[in-house]
Amino acid sequence: MSKPRIGIYGLTGCAGDQLNILNCEDELLKLFDIFEIKSFVMASSAADEESPLDVAFVEGSVSTEKDLEHLKEIRKKSRLLVAIGHCAVFGGVQSMFTGKKWEETYRAVYGKKDAVSLTRPLPPKPLSAYVKVDAVLPGCPIEKEPFLKLAGLLAKGVVPRHPDFPVCAECKWKENECLLLKGEICLGPLTNSGCGAICPSLNIPCIGCWGPIEKENWEAEAFLLKENGFSVEEVVKRFAIFGGEERAEKLKKFLEGKEG
Ligand code: SF4
Ligand code: SF4
Repeated sequence: MSKPRIGIYGLTGCAGDQLNILNCEDELLKLFDIFEIKSFVMASSAADEESPLDVAFVEGSVSTEKDLEHLKEIRKKSRLLVAIGHCAVFGGVQSMFTGKKWEETYRAVYGKKDAVSLTRPLPPKPLSAYVKVDAVLPGCPIEKEPFLKLAGLLAKGVVPRHPDFPVCAECKWKENECLLLKGEICLGPLTNSGCGAICPSLNIPCIGCWGPIEKENWEAEAFLLKENGFSVEEVVKRFAIFGGEERAEKLKKFLEGKEG
């Protein structure tokens, strides 16, 4: 049986996800054994960009026209496309100030028109804003174990669905004492699971880095926190990780409405 052909690519991001794949060390040889790696520029410049792929792993957000062209090329030749890391899955830090203020922010950082024509920027977005994404692996950067688990399933032809239940479930399975009861702002109830509730297990509140669950009830948690004495500003600041300024504005109005 022929080995599944894979490619590992990076768009705009810090390349931390590709680096963590390289950091698999003990398992790396096994990965090379299971898959036929057609392209992994961080590991080898000998890339084959012509052959079709069974699976493409892509990290980074789409932040330039060049990123978009590259992504479309990858999508065209790949049976499955997997977004790895927060930038590819959610847009990452660079997508936090989009909308009306994006161009303003870009020019404030990079200045003149020349930079714009040179880099051909786009408002940073996740891969799914432009192409079909078959599976996701969040993380900033991705963790070794979930990546190896995902790669193992894909090698067997299984495309896993990302769980849609909150970090709280994993936290409860670990029998942790809830940090909300200890007076902390923990975003576990709103955050997609998969990380194994690493932070609350170490007594550190979840900041929501695996992204929001589909049916998050942010109003309920925001109201509870306010009832427990947290200021509107503090709650809004923490919740802004999901949906940036737009969400912050909505939440502020909601909490101030409750004040009245
Ligand atoms: S500590 Fe956080 S993640 Fe754990 S149960 Fe409480 S709110 Fe949920
Ligand atoms: S911040 Fe939350 S989602 Fe991110 S690793 Fe910690 S517990 Fe998991």
